[in-house]
Amino acid sequence: MPAPDGVKNHAPGTVTKKQHERRIGVDIGGTKIDALVFDHADKVIFEKRIDTPKDYEPMIKAVAGLVEEAGKGTVGIGAPGSGDPETGVWRNSNFVASNGQTLAKDLEAAIGRPIRIENDANCFALSEAKDGAGAGFGSIAFFTIGTGLGGGLVIDGKIIRGAHAEAAEFGHTGLPWMTELDWPPVKCFCGKQGCAEMYVSGTGLVLDYKRVTGFELTGQEIIARARLGAVAAAAALMRMQDRFARICANILNVIDPDIFVMGGGLSTLPELVEELPPHIARYTFSGKAIPRVERAKHGGNSGVRGAARLWG
Ligand SMILES: [Zn+2]
Repeated sequence: MPAPDGVKNHAPGTVTKKQHERRIGVDIGGTKIDALVFDHADKVIFEKRIDTPKDYEPMIKAVAGLVEEAGKGTVGIGAPGSGDPETGVWRNSNFVASNGQTLAKDLEAAIGRPIRIENDANCFALSEAKDGAGAGFGSIAFFTIGTGLGGGLVIDGKIIRGAHAEAAEFGHTGLPWMTELDWPPVKCFCGKQGCAEMYVSGTGLVLDYKRVTGFELTGQEIIARARLGAVAAAAALMRMQDRFARICANILNVIDPDIFVMGGGLSTLPELVEELPPHIARYTFSGKAIPRVERAKHGGNSGVRGAARLWG
């Protein structure tokens, strides 16, 4: 599998200085920051998780502190959102404190070494494509279904970033083939309305349940009630499954990936993984294309593993 952009491949059998180095990965999530270190043999030799500070400056300091604790090595960082390719200004993050900031520059200054930074869903995609559920497949579409809905696309081992670093933002594509159950479109933090993330995510599940029943429960409470047979909660999960099937079918109609790989907290739901393929098929152009859908192999660790691999 080709290495990500900017990383040179070495001939098999040659031992390079790079292969002796330690690789640090940091994943800045909305609630937790994870760090790990791979040694030269891809063995995890350090792992730590802390709470994400709510404000920008304390978050930068917390990441720098984690990297110092992790020790020597290259530093790869995953974070929600992306840097504007022209100005470096961070945008589109659901960790809104980092929007409008020069995140990469500020992290690099605080850490005191060169860093590579990448959208968190792209890090997840890189990890699962390399040695996870997507290994060996040519085209892979990734979703991280958690508080939000992240997307990633890897083709022939390369992350597809696009001309404006906005490719595979599946969560902010419009929910396709809307019905009266989806109407009126839900307002999104990005300023648009009807974004996929507002329907398929922990946030989306809570909003949908409240809209239909008038009651506000957490995502975990809704799932627990559905498992106990509560009709309104089970119906909310079915609506989320149908909406997710439409979102996936829309992607299939564009790129028809070899496999969909699902990660994030809500990917534990069979409704969004094992049970999904026939529902996707109904919405594809032919009505018959049953896609391969699998759960991420490295679970919640995929993002931080991928971040560590940004240097190869
Ligand atoms: Zn949006």
